[in-house]
Amino acid sequence: MTRVTRADLDSIPAYVPGRSSPRAIKLASNESTQGPLPGVAQAIADAAATANRYPDNTSATLIRALSESLDVPTESIATGCGSVGLCQELVQITCKDGDEVIYAWRSFEAYPVVTKVAGATPVPVPLTAEQGHDLDAMLAAITDRTRLIFVCTPNNPTGTALGREELERFLDAVPANIVVALDEAYFEYNRSGVDGIELARTRPNVVVLRTFSKAYGLAGIRVGYAVADPAIITALAKVHTTFSVSSVAQAAAIACLRARDELLQRTHVVVAERDRVRDALLAAGYDVSVTEANFVWLPLRDRSAAYGQASADAGVLIRPYATDGVRVTIGDAHENDAFLAFATSAAALQLAGIPTP
Ligand SMILES: *Cc1c(COP(=O)(O)O)cnc(C)c1O
Repeated sequence: MTRVTRADLDSIPAYVPGRSSPRAIKLASNESTQGPLPGVAQAIADAAATANRYPDNTSATLIRALSESLDVPTESIATGCGSVGLCQELVQITCKDGDEVIYAWRSFEAYPVVTKVAGATPVPVPLTAEQGHDLDAMLAAITDRTRLIFVCTPNNPTGTALGREELERFLDAVPANIVVALDEAYFEYNRSGVDGIELARTRPNVVVLRTFSKAYGLAGIRVGYAVADPAIITALAKVHTTFSVSSVAQAAAIACLRARDELLQRTHVVVAERDRVRDALLAAGYDVSVTEANFVWLPLRDRSAAYGQASADAGVLIRPYATDGVRVTIGDAHENDAFLAFATSAAALQLAGIPTP
């Protein structure tokens, strides 16, 4: 058959979402376990009543609310169809064919995809032995073709977060003509105190990405935002898919900001559960990275696929990543207990290569 699409698309893997099954416990996609608060659900319903009208393409009301809550000028904020949409737009505003995008690997699966789709060249830099970003190696990977660097902290899927000093040293060493995107999708779970927006205030090449999908519980609604110098925000608007942040998404996000304290309160429960799960796994003999996100990472390497399948067979869907490891989202206590029951079983310990007494 005659080819009608770009030949290079063959080398781009399709995005693989976490598995889902109505009967299983789903700890595979880093979602919030709780549905929207009543006020948020009402805002969604109200917005649905005017679904015949196009949304405000500038998200003006949402951006004003974000501006107040973050203490950032409205000119420094852009919204996107999830922060994945903003990742794609960042490649579009920085890269032409053959320009290079650096990111740690393993990290968020969208980075290689949005890079290749834009015709840019991915430059993945292996994580350290501790499963964190190797910032020195990332600096060493910069060439005169580098246009964009993604830094995911806390890192999906390993959970590791960068310290303020190492991050500042890195940002100060990156040439000013290269954009650095600090992807803080899990910011609300990070208890290290590092805040990318503070670091971006004085650095015009630094963009912070955040999302309503995780701690705010709107993964199904699709809305995220970027905070950056107005020059970057203006460029993002040029490549933005018109109307891609729906009126329902804008209304839901505004309602979440109003209920911010109540929603952020939920993260304390998740953080306590995360530490409980990690401690239990360590006690069972697992190697578990230090995590600042709403998930834990087990670097099981070539045992990952079999381990993920066995967990699914035991009724708990987790996320295996090729020959790197498995990521387990922190859910409600009973869900985490179900995973721990599997993880500490003789069969699972054997699959993980942990000697049993
Ligand atoms: C979940 C996630 C996002 C957010 O995606 P949305 O498009 O906002 O749902 C962005 N970056 C990372 C690293 C993530 O894990």
